[in-house]
Amino acid sequence: MTIQADQETIIVEAFINGQNVKSLSQEAKENPTNPTEIVGYFPVTTKEQAVEAIEAAAGAFKTWKQTPIDERIMMMRKAIEKIRTAENEIVHLLSREHGKPLYDAHGEIYVSLMWMEFACNEAKSALQEEIKEHENGKTILSYDPIGVVAAISPWNYPIALSTIKIAPALLAGNTIVLKPSPYAPLAAAKVAEIIASEFPAGVINVVHGDADVGVELTSNPLVTKIAFTGGTATAKHIIKAASETIKDMTLELGGNDAAIFLESFDVHDERAMRRIVISNFLTAGQICMIAKRVYVHRSIYDEFVEKYIEAANRWIRIGDPFDSNTTVGPVNNLKQKNYVLGLVEDAQKRGAKVIPLGQILDQKLFEQGYYLQPTLVLGCDVHDPIVVEEQFGPTVPILPFDDEEQVIHLHNESIYGLTSSVWGKEEDAISVARQLEAGTTMINTAAVQGLDVRFPFGGVKQSGIGREYGVEGIRTYTEKHVINVPKTLDLPYIPE
Ligand code: NAD
Repeated sequence: MTIQADQETIIVEAFINGQNVKSLSQEAKENPTNPTEIVGYFPVTTKEQAVEAIEAAAGAFKTWKQTPIDERIMMMRKAIEKIRTAENEIVHLLSREHGKPLYDAHGEIYVSLMWMEFACNEAKSALQEEIKEHENGKTILSYDPIGVVAAISPWNYPIALSTIKIAPALLAGNTIVLKPSPYAPLAAAKVAEIIASEFPAGVINVVHGDADVGVELTSNPLVTKIAFTGGTATAKHIIKAASETIKDMTLELGGNDAAIFLESFDVHDERAMRRIVISNFLTAGQICMIAKRVYVHRSIYDEFVEKYIEAANRWIRIGDPFDSNTTVGPVNNLKQKNYVLGLVEDAQKRGAKVIPLGQILDQKLFEQGYYLQPTLVLGCDVHDPIVVEEQFGPTVPILPFDDEEQVIHLHNESIYGLTSSVWGKEEDAISVARQLEAGTTMINTAAVQGLDVRFPFGGVKQSGIGREYGVEGIRTYTEKHVINVPKTLDLPYIPE
């Protein structure tokens, strides 16, 4: 499969039962760098087409679940190779439709492939049935596929957050209907089609649209598992939609991840300073696990802020995603830009000081696209919206704290608990980390720099249910089926 790169207009269609399916209407995807340029068109999938896709997946499941695991792995490995071959074109398309710089788009493919490889390497042992002989007979524990998976992904990492679902779901013997986000539908759809070209018809289906199609996917009785990544508010609708038919679900949701700098942190460590800046502004801050609030021990606060600004001004270069000097591109869409801007303006009205960071490489482009200059926000109250809400954009508040008990409280009072990070002497940092309510806590690094696909990833509280990545990220697409063969068939306490 070839993907036209550069300035060509990309057209994607729904992909159902191994076929591209025409739609009556299409939506345009604009380029966030230059919103008057249309990158491509994606279809408005109708409810009837969504049902068709679900039925195709249900039909394919009957035979796919019987396919030997070695064959499934072999197909996935071929798909991985095809993605690798098409990497440059995919990366170009992703940058154009999303706005993330080329290096960042390559990073997304890098993480996607690393995970797909891991899933292929681990699938056989993760899904191997376990047979236990014990004093009461024999028990077989098998990892059976669940059925039809509705995979719904967000716009910030559209490929990684689609492949994180597709690879384990298929390896475990399920079939899938994927719905990418209308804010970044093109590259994800292309990658899904590349994968689909290695699998039997109906095993992967792709539909497009927003909530209307999402509601069908999350309420249709033939769908038995939902794998959703997106906002917490959307997840609440999904839980309601799925409640009629009690579906299995993995929910990877929003976060308000804190980075905590202890007294023992060395503010002169330039590499660490660079790491925290990247943890705040990679992908223009539009990552679920970006550090969204920074707490610094008061004894090092002033010097920390000074060194932070220096490090940020060195690393942040705002420009054209295709310019290799650019580290921060535009925000993906106008709605998100306005939301982040609103939070910063609100903080300013409440008396906070807003410090612009980095260098704008091309002022004309900056004014034309959905750009926001990254900002540091100082002097906020701990409960200001910019501190307690997920900004999901290029701004970060830095606040002082006085003791560990206080900062642990501030961390844990959030409704979220996705990731967090603690910076300082390792043993002090681990001791604080153990007291934090989060799915992952990183020491002396944060965000994707501390991500390890070999271990489970997910949130606590309103940041989600279940885990992706790791062996658990494969088994989450299975039903644990126990077959018991007891030696003693008559229970002693039941009367004759
Ligand atoms: P979103 O919730 O608006 O949309 C996510 C997906 O859900 C999209 O495909 C959208 O079309 C679909 N959708 C919308 N309404 C729906 C409905 N009623 N039923 C079913 N599907 C529906 O999220 P977004 O703006 O695309 O992404 C940003 C959010 O995602 C942030 O909160 C971010 O933290 C979160 N996120 C979480 C993780 C994680 O791993 N925890 C990773 C990335 C992003």
